[in-house]
Amino acid sequence: MQPGTTIFEQMSGLARAHDAINLGQGFPDFGWPAAVLAAGARAITSGDNQYPPMRGLPELRRAVAAFYRRRQGLDLDPDQVIVTSGATEALAASILSVAGPGDEVILFAPAYDAYAPLVRRAGAQPVFVDLAPPDWQADASAITAAITPATRAILLNTPHNPTGAMAGPAMLAAIVQLARAHDLLIISDEVWEEVLTGAEPHVSPLALAPERTIKIGSAGKLLALTGWKVGWVVAEAGLAERVAQMHQFLTFTTPPPLQQAVAEGLALPDAWFAATQGDFRRARDRLAAALASGGWTLLPSVGSYFLMADLAASGIGLSDSEFCMAAVARAGVAAIPLGAFLPGTPASGFIRLCFAKRDTVLDAGASRLNAARRTDWAAMPGL
Ligand code: PMP
Ligand code: GLN
Repeated sequence: MQPGTTIFEQMSGLARAHDAINLGQGFPDFGWPAAVLAAGARAITSGDNQYPPMRGLPELRRAVAAFYRRRQGLDLDPDQVIVTSGATEALAASILSVAGPGDEVILFAPAYDAYAPLVRRAGAQPVFVDLAPPDWQADASAITAAITPATRAILLNTPHNPTGAMAGPAMLAAIVQLARAHDLLIISDEVWEEVLTGAEPHVSPLALAPERTIKIGSAGKLLALTGWKVGWVVAEAGLAERVAQMHQFLTFTTPPPLQQAVAEGLALPDAWFAATQGDFRRARDRLAAALASGGWTLLPSVGSYFLMADLAASGIGLSDSEFCMAAVARAGVAAIPLGAFLPGTPASGFIRLCFAKRDTVLDAGASRLNAARRTDWAAMPGL
């Protein structure tokens, strides 16, 4: 089965075609450190532009280990870090290294759009455990019900795209306990680990179950440079080696000037990361306030730069995809339907909004969404 074009690509294309404000695909329009751009330019013009080592530049592997020691108290050796071309490649290499034909991988739905296609591409089957609003947690009994003798891994995403929720202590404890009891690996997609807009700190399952967790990170999110596609896997040395075996025939390496610049970015002081989190928190609050005053019902968001809006509770009688298509074409604002993250093609009543935008963009986006909310779409021809 060929997956269709991703919802992010579709919506950004429609946003360009209709000259709409793009609150769909997740990318910031502010927040990247000028020093890291300068480091990248310097590394291109005066650094090494030939193949770097397959597992990544030693400088970046050291920087990733040091970053997680400093920010998350993880005790890591640089040998445990494999640099990949974005978290997407890290996911592909991790899934391919743990699951094959006849195997199953547990995913939590809503699930990031790449997960199920990558599991299927490995020849394995995704098995979904539902997360439900408003807190989007799974308990031990729901996860247990999904485990079979064919289960090889649980793929967790915390903080979670698209909901902005974080796996709480009970969900993390259940995953770790069940993974140990059934000898499963935990693939933990933590790309949003530093985009925190709530009070709770990020907790990696790697801290709880270092012997069986493959942790995935992305400089695209950490340094607000989504187009750079520099990511990594961090795991116990034997697991990291298994992932490296897959990485070598996916992309083999990642552009060394970008790796060099990211290594410098990860050494930015804690104050820079705190200030960036503050900027995203203010952006979330600004968009949320403008939408709430326009009659929207929003769900809480504490991680990632996404906010979810509840269509029915906001008085809108369209499904998520109907609303998103109408909004981008007729109201000049792009959003992402939650259904794109659900197995099959279910209609859902929620849309995802990206708030990592400058104030002027947020204000314009909110006023268009508010107008869209007031529109009587049932009376509009062609819908
Ligand atoms: N995982 C999740 C949960 C994401 O939200 C994203 C991108 N937003 C990715 C992986 C992909 O990251 P990258 O761009 O580094 O490949
Ligand atoms: N991860 C980004 C999002 O959730 C988009 C990545 C992509 O376009 N594939 O919006």
